[in-house]
Amino acid sequence: MSTIKYILSLTFLNLLLFHVPFYSYVLEHIEVGTADGLLSLFVVMVALFVVNIFLLSLLALISTKVLKGFTLFMLFSAPIALYFMSTYNTILDRTMMGNLFNTNTSEALSYYHPKMFIYLFIGLLLAYIVFKIPIKKSKRVKLLKFGLGITVMGIVILYINSSKWLWLDKHAKNLGARAMPWSYVINSIRYKLRELKEHKKQILLPTATFANPKEKIVVILVIGESARAKSFSLYGYERETNPRLKKEDIVVLKNTKATATYTTASVHSMLSYVGSSSDSYEPLPNYLQRQGVEVIWRTKNWGEPHLNVETYQRASDLEVSCKGDECNYDSVLLTGLMKRIKASKKKKVFVVLHTSGSHGPSYFEKYPKKFELFKPVCKTVNIKECSQEELNNAYDNTIVYTDYFLATIIEKLKKEQGLNSLMIYLSDHGESLGEYGLYLHGTPYSIAPDVQKKVPFLFWASNSFKEKRNLKNIDFEHQKEHGDYNIFHSVMGAFEMNSTIYDNKLDIFSY
Ligand SMILES: [Zn+2]
Repeated sequence: MSTIKYILSLTFLNLLLFHVPFYSYVLEHIEVGTADGLLSLFVVMVALFVVNIFLLSLLALISTKVLKGFTLFMLFSAPIALYFMSTYNTILDRTMMGNLFNTNTSEALSYYHPKMFIYLFIGLLLAYIVFKIPIKKSKRVKLLKFGLGITVMGIVILYINSSKWLWLDKHAKNLGARAMPWSYVINSIRYKLRELKEHKKQILLPTATFANPKEKIVVILVIGESARAKSFSLYGYERETNPRLKKEDIVVLKNTKATATYTTASVHSMLSYVGSSSDSYEPLPNYLQRQGVEVIWRTKNWGEPHLNVETYQRASDLEVSCKGDECNYDSVLLTGLMKRIKASKKKKVFVVLHTSGSHGPSYFEKYPKKFELFKPVCKTVNIKECSQEELNNAYDNTIVYTDYFLATIIEKLKKEQGLNSLMIYLSDHGESLGEYGLYLHGTPYSIAPDVQKKVPFLFWASNSFKEKRNLKNIDFEHQKEHGDYNIFHSVMGAFEMNSTIYDNKLDIFSY
């Protein structure tokens, strides 16, 4: 078989066998039976065909061996990818490939199902059949003409149907993640490149010393999500959204502004020693881990910097051992937490709980039913359809649940009498609930309203911590302003760490 025929046959085989999720996505998003729907289908098929011919020709231009090697890989791996996509209803975008690379063996084994073997067998069989087909080398010039010819033809067809560009652009990510085998090949490369960049970027910070290395202390940092200070009664909201925290001996820090209006930038900034999302230094958890602190990161969210910590647990990891009716909510992050902390042999323990808090638009799904204090609530993700009252109610209920979540941590720490402990809570950014016609968050910082910037920032400390650090004599009320730049230095201060980068002016316990 000539190389060109081989490429064509392989393309048809690929389009025929491995694109069921792709086609079902397309059919779900066009109006089947209308001329417009047919045109979308035609354009997307042309695009898919051209992409396959173009990329396979590129491989053939390198060498027929490379083309054949890739084909075998594709025929063997695509059925397995299809199995995962259909079983777990996922798509293979960059984040998913990252998740797969980060899956450990025991997790991977938990995906095992006998049905997988059928897919594996089909893949191996296909690969074997194609392996037996000899390829006759085509001349490079001929190959180039063929690859470019088809590509140009495809571009012309797309150009004529420019009315479909918007549709293609809108669905590009979803279609790309279903185009086999390119979705997982290209997204794996994208993930690895990004990882490499982040690894390279982290400059190590200078070694620190501990003033009291033998003293046990536990610091829990809770990172909130989309919680705005305006909706906390602790910050003057007329509605009682903090019924539990108000009874606790906590310190509420006034005038706290987030440095960004979206999660990734805020969390990076919160963990950076210069308080900026664009710095190149190792983030707080990595630094503490290197200085001998036991670091436990638990998350029901995403967007953290590249972490190098001993314990990294996703909510899905914790769900396995979680009991009760709160395992689908932030409380899953507390599963066995105290036991885990007590089991640590290290004197300094740093826990980060990255919550999903008040992340919209489906506020009503962020808390268990019993926390629905304010009714009626908005029950659609299209929040503009809801009345202002329903929207506020749903959002406020998420704050009531956050209040409960934080109070639960305090209660757990209080029970450990004599344990030197501290809990800090800071939200990543605020949220718009229709003010100035804005919803959610992520408005460019310079024009973002205060509700997206002003965030709750509070802490609770055990009696021993308060006494040791003489907190009674600190006038927190008169600390003029706060920000995520306080986190790094305050945590260092709490552990009584010292190094050349420590800035006591940014440590809230040392003002
Ligand atoms: Zn966020």
